[in-house]
Amino acid sequence: TRPVPPDIEIAEAAELTPILDLARERLGIDPEHLVPYGHDKAKVSLAGVRALESRTDGRLVLVTAISPTPAGEGKTTTSVGLADGLAALGENAMVALREPSMGPVFGIKGGAAGGGYSQVVPMADINLNFTGDFAAIAAANNLLSAVLDNHLHHGNALDIDPRTVTWKRVVDLNDRALRDVVVGLGGVANGIPREDGFDIVVASEVMAILCLATSVADLRERLGRVVVGYTRGTKQAVHARDLNVHGAMTVILRDALAPNLVQTLEHTPAMIHGGPFANIAHGCNSVMATRTALKLADYVVTEAGFGADLGAEKFVDIKCRATGLRPSAVVVVATVRALKYHGGVNVPDLGTESVEAVTAGMANLRRHLRNVRDVYGLPPVVALNRFPSDTDAEVAEVLRLVEAEGVRAYEATHFADGSDGSKALARGVLEVIEEGSADLQFVYPDDMPLAQKAEAVATRVYGAAGVTFEPKAAKRLAAIEAEGYGHLPICMAKTQSSFSTDPTLRGAPEGHTVSVREVRLAAGAGFVVMVTGEIMTMPGLPKVPASERIDVDDDGRIVGLS
Ligand code: ADP
Ligand code: MG
Repeated sequence: TRPVPPDIEIAEAAELTPILDLARERLGIDPEHLVPYGHDKAKVSLAGVRALESRTDGRLVLVTAISPTPAGEGKTTTSVGLADGLAALGENAMVALREPSMGPVFGIKGGAAGGGYSQVVPMADINLNFTGDFAAIAAANNLLSAVLDNHLHHGNALDIDPRTVTWKRVVDLNDRALRDVVVGLGGVANGIPREDGFDIVVASEVMAILCLATSVADLRERLGRVVVGYTRGTKQAVHARDLNVHGAMTVILRDALAPNLVQTLEHTPAMIHGGPFANIAHGCNSVMATRTALKLADYVVTEAGFGADLGAEKFVDIKCRATGLRPSAVVVVATVRALKYHGGVNVPDLGTESVEAVTAGMANLRRHLRNVRDVYGLPPVVALNRFPSDTDAEVAEVLRLVEAEGVRAYEATHFADGSDGSKALARGVLEVIEEGSADLQFVYPDDMPLAQKAEAVATRVYGAAGVTFEPKAAKRLAAIEAEGYGHLPICMAKTQSSFSTDPTLRGAPEGHTVSVREVRLAAGAGFVVMVTGEIMTMPGLPKVPASERIDVDDDGRIVGLS
């Protein structure tokens, strides 16, 4: 096999179709409904989105994965590859993805625009400032912080207890030094000193809100519902609307609500819009983008973050429940390396052949497949994303083990070969859709108490024996239910590395206990976050961050971006 050049080299060498042409020729979008950002990016205007309402919806394919490992599994790469594969078969296909955060771009993970010959382009733009959505989210979020601190400064008419404020400031970088800060220092003119902190933009509730909002009016309503803290005396919730700031926040976000259109290396149309975390939030691109893509294409491939126990569960229980979206098939991405890792092999040895480790690691994939089929009610298909070090014997073993589950499995080489490497997978996905067996089930009903919802996810999806709540969490849960939020879905914030809350427990641990440490209300997004273990909402940088490799030459060419 020939070596695949670095992502940025492939991306920069690509010939892009002018976005207005692509929109007109491939999707039938009138130029008046596009807001171009240069030649290669455009937003579909909100009027343009409305103009599509009478069209029928295409079929939705959800891409998820085995429990993630340090080796990287390739959900985004496979989503792009599958959409290109469907297009290569002559289908009208699109991909709908999250916008990358700049934090990881300069940290360890790198960009999130796919890889190899399965990328969305313009890659550097998508990974960096793109169409400014994240800047708008940060500004809207921080306006609420500024107005809140200003309210405290000017007499605190609402009687907010500064010690109960949960609303944090945000920035789209990995910056551990900002996790805990004190604001308002420096004297009387600078406000009231209080403890504050920064989260990364993708962990903010505003991000989740933008991604779940269905219109400007819904966006404004949700922003108004945000709870920032509680009053001193009667402990009443204080909302963004009580500070009269939700209208201005909506103004900042109005343009950002319109979904972004770009293309893959093979000119398949791609929607890239919104990017919430998959632990503290629901982990998939915006409802606006998914719905718009379904109006524009017959097949829409979309990705949910982390493994099928996190991103896919939230896709079902939060996004599908809130919107009526219904996937027709679920692609579960697996790699030989991830299977070996779950089978007990450590990272430095993942390049050494071990069919036995693949067999052992299948426990993890098997549980995800059964969850997708038996708990979510959706037909799974396995995409075996092939890496250069995989041996034929290992690949054959994965295909055999998956087929023994009654699930179709396809080796996919889109990373190295583009759509030539994903057509077989695409054909398999079309067959599964044709069978029409999808019958989406939620993991729990709306009217179940919040603690039981957590119990349902833990026992039915994680294979746990049950859930316990630390005293502080139990108290908060009771208060949230008393405030009338008991009907909301829950959002489990758990490590992505294990079915348990212990990231070192690989494979398919059973009978473990899920301990909820903290409960957070996201009233605007419309879910209650159950925090288990240590969940990072402001990542740090590694000792040698990727930013050390990223540079630009005298001709403006970017190097080191991956
Ligand atoms: P995810 O969406 O699951 O986080 P990505 O698609 O972003 O994963 O891929 C993670 C990393 O692995 C990226 O750097 C990507 O380029 C790389 N990658 C994905 N598939 C392959 C492959 N088949 N061979 C080599 N590298 C790959
Ligand atoms: Mg991804």
